[in-house]
Amino acid sequence: MRYHLPTMLQDNLINWFQQHRVDLPWRAQRDPYHVWISEIMLQQTQVTTVIPYFERFIERFPTVVHLAAAPLDDVLKLWEGLGYYSRARNLHAAAQMIIDKFDGQFPNTVDDLRHLPGVGDYTAGAIANFAFGADAPLVDGNVIRVLTRLFDIDADVTRAAGKRAVWDLAAELVPTGRGPLWNEGLMELGRLVCTPRSPACEACPVQTHCQALARGTQEERPVKPKRKPTPHYDVTAAVITRDDGRILIAQRPTDKMLGGLWEFPGGKREPGESLRDCLVREIEEELSLVIDVGPQITTVKHAYSHFKITLYAFACEVRSGEATPLGVADFAWVTADQFDAYAFPVTDQKIIAALRSGGGQLGMDFNEGLSS
Ligand code: SF4
Repeated sequence: MRYHLPTMLQDNLINWFQQHRVDLPWRAQRDPYHVWISEIMLQQTQVTTVIPYFERFIERFPTVVHLAAAPLDDVLKLWEGLGYYSRARNLHAAAQMIIDKFDGQFPNTVDDLRHLPGVGDYTAGAIANFAFGADAPLVDGNVIRVLTRLFDIDADVTRAAGKRAVWDLAAELVPTGRGPLWNEGLMELGRLVCTPRSPACEACPVQTHCQALARGTQEERPVKPKRKPTPHYDVTAAVITRDDGRILIAQRPTDKMLGGLWEFPGGKREPGESLRDCLVREIEEELSLVIDVGPQITTVKHAYSHFKITLYAFACEVRSGEATPLGVADFAWVTADQFDAYAFPVTDQKIIAALRSGGGQLGMDFNEGLSS
C-alpha cells in the first residue's frame, strides 16, 4: 500500500520533539553501550522503572568489557525485580560476543547488530539510529500506534501483513539525515500524547495530518484481535529447612523462564492434585528428596505477560534422600542472611519478606492440616 507522505509532517513532529524532549540518562551521551543497555531495559518496561536500574547497571558495568568479564550471577542480581530475565542473560552473552567476535568494537550496522543475542529488528535499528545516526526505520509499540492512527491503517498489526505494512510505511517516512530525531519524536509522541486510551489530539503537533482524527477512529487503531482470557496456575514452593537452620534454594535451568535465578523449589499443580501432593512430587522430581510439608508461610499472587499465578509457600523438612540437581541447574543450603547474595524473582522475594517479617514460622507443626 502507498501512502501520501506530507513533508510538513516530519517538520512538525521534529520541531515538537526538540522542544519537548525529556532528559533521560541514556540520552546524555549517545554511547552505543548506553543506548543498547537502555533499549534492552525499556523492552516491556516503563521509563520511570528503568531509570534507577540503568544508572546502577552503568555504575557497576561501565563498559562492555566490564559486562563481558562479570559472572552471570552478578548481572542477574543487578536485574533482580526488572523481570524478563532472558534480557539479562542475552546482554551478558552479547557482551562476550562483542569482545570475542567483534574485537571489542561495538557493531555499527543493523545487519551486524542483529547477530547479537537478544537484538531483534527494533533494537538493532534503535542502536543504529541513536548511537550511529543511521536513517533506519524503527517500529515499536508506540510507533505502531502513532502510524496506524496517522494513516488510519485498519490491518491487524499482530499479523505478518499488518506488521509489514507498518514497517514499510516507517521506512518510507524516515527523512534523510534526520532519522534519529524523527524516530525518537514518533516514540515520544506515542508515549506522551498519542496514548493507547484517550489520546490528547487537541495538543498533538501532527493533528492536521491525522486521518484517524479526521474519521474519529483513533480509539480503534491499531487493530488487534480480542485478547483471550489470561490463564491462571496454582504453583507451590517449599521452604525446606535443615536441622542446622539452613534453607534449601535451587537455581532454575538457564533455558527456562527466569533461567539462572534462584528460588524456593516447587512447581505447578496438576489438575486434581492437592497443593501438598504437588509439592511432594515436584521436590522429588527436581531434587530427589522426599519431604514432609508443614504449615503454609504465605500466598503470593503475580501476573506475568501471558499468565497469572498464585504461589503457595510452605515450611517443609526432609524426610529422606540427599539433594540431587535432577530438574534444577544447582542448589545450595544457605542461611537466611545469605539470601541477599542470590538473585531471586519477585515472587520469591515476597516469600523472603514473609520469612523475615515473622509471617512464616519455620518451626513446623506437621499435624496441621492443609486445606488443599
Ligand atoms: Fe494520535 Fe490524536 Fe495525534 Fe492522531 S491527532 S496522531 S490520534 S494524538
